[in-house]
Amino acid sequence: MTLTATISSAIKDAVGPKGWSTDSERIEAHVTERRGLWHGHCDLVVSPASTDEVAQVMSICHDAGIAVVPQGGNTGLVGGGVPEGGIALSLSRLNSIRNIDAANNTMTVDAGCILADVQAAAAAEDRLFPLSLGAEGSCQIGGNLATNAGGVQVLRYGNARDLVLGLEVVLPDGRVWEGLKALRKDNTGYDLKHLFIGAEGTLGVITAAVLKLYPLPQSRETALAALGNADDALRLFLRAGSEAGDALTAFEYISRQSLDITVTHIPGLKDPLEAAHDCYALIELSGADGIKDALEQVLAGAMEDGIVEDAVIAASGAQAAELWRIRETIPEAQITAGASIKHDVSVPVSKVPEFLVRAQQIVEKEIPGVRVCAFGHLGDGNIHFNLSQPKAADGEAFLAEWKKINRLVHDLVHEMGGSFSAEHGIGVLKRDDLKRYTSAVELELMQALKQTLDPKGIMNPGKVL
Ligand SMILES: Cc1cc2nc3c(=O)[nH]c(=O)nc-3n(C[C@H](O)[C@H](O)[C@H](O)COP(=O)(O)OP(=O)(O)OC[C@H]3O[C@@H](n4cnc5c(N)ncnc54)[C@H](O)[C@@H]3O)c2cc1C
Repeated sequence: MTLTATISSAIKDAVGPKGWSTDSERIEAHVTERRGLWHGHCDLVVSPASTDEVAQVMSICHDAGIAVVPQGGNTGLVGGGVPEGGIALSLSRLNSIRNIDAANNTMTVDAGCILADVQAAAAAEDRLFPLSLGAEGSCQIGGNLATNAGGVQVLRYGNARDLVLGLEVVLPDGRVWEGLKALRKDNTGYDLKHLFIGAEGTLGVITAAVLKLYPLPQSRETALAALGNADDALRLFLRAGSEAGDALTAFEYISRQSLDITVTHIPGLKDPLEAAHDCYALIELSGADGIKDALEQVLAGAMEDGIVEDAVIAASGAQAAELWRIRETIPEAQITAGASIKHDVSVPVSKVPEFLVRAQQIVEKEIPGVRVCAFGHLGDGNIHFNLSQPKAADGEAFLAEWKKINRLVHDLVHEMGGSFSAEHGIGVLKRDDLKRYTSAVELELMQALKQTLDPKGIMNPGKVL
């Protein structure tokens, strides 16, 4: 349905003068994916300031059959938040920390709160909200939950899904499901919150959440270990897990090519070790004071046994930040290094080394000279298997291979029992993959849920399914 003047003014009345915009510049920001990969259109940006206003907007759109695309910080990487008509529903004005119950280790927040603000509010109460990712300064908690975001602390604390006790959701017809329970035990029927987490805005609008908090670690230690191959990276991971237990909060894999590309293209970044090595593990231990001894012991033992070739332990917070900068700037460095083809995949942790070897052989056979920048959350079996164009190649010609290469890598991942989308979701980018790699029964169940909750198909149409 088209957005008539009557429907438009009913929506505007519901949210008041501060809650909508038809300004072309403002609209442009809401229809363009941050990296410019997708560009859509809509006639109205709506920014409700309360759950009740969201409910009124949804009710109007439901009655009129108007498409609604919920939007957080627009940092999603699969085009899930780009509207193709209807309205863009920005949650940005719904941004209060509603409550922190430190004794219950929970906080209740509006969906539009920026992730970094949620972390800071928890820290002010001497608590940790552990979700952490590169986009945390601009992504919103509603977007994190809608995409079931992962990040660098999944190893210890789980995905966004594992950090939620309750949700408040406005359904496509405007009814409000008030599920803001702060309970760690609650076996009262189906656990509905999990339907909306990871649904990428296709089943309802998340307006608030009860989040789990943890004790704030007293100390955090970071090291970069150099390794001879990915098998040794896995060995080191298993060893660190047995020796440090829950204190192991991050274990990130960095291939030599990834490190090379960052030190070449990111100003001021240096290789912290003298010699070049096949790959690296960025390790973080956190917990009580004295955790540094544990990290030293893990690395010393692994060196003695020939697993680790060299290592540096950060001597200060600044040096730790520098080591993390290597890991976090790989995608940025890849942009400067030319065109890239990306994969966000997971396999069982035990199969990561095999995946890395086989995938590299496959892509090198297809594109001689391709630069494999594999990096990511080895501890979760999640590798960002990113490819940079061969140095002298034509970027456009390289990008023309995107679908073919994706298919080959995703087929391998599927054969190895893995996932073609480990943490970024489906959006529009991976709809065909979802069809290809998902069983008919699973797709039917997804369609049935969509039909039940959103029979008019107004919630983020064309995404995921
Ligand atoms: C530099 C960078 C690093 C990243 N690192 C990681 C990482 O390590 N791990 C990881 O998992 N992801 C990562 N991402 C992608 C990640 O999915 C997003 O950053 C984040 O989770 C999305 O939040 P957002 O508020 O920006 O959502 P948006 O991009 O605005 O929206 C994403 C999807 O959620 C829907 N949505 C948004 N808000 C709501 C709501 N309130 N209710 C219902 N649906 C909603 C949208 O319709 C859309 O489909 C990264 C992105 C960037 C740019």
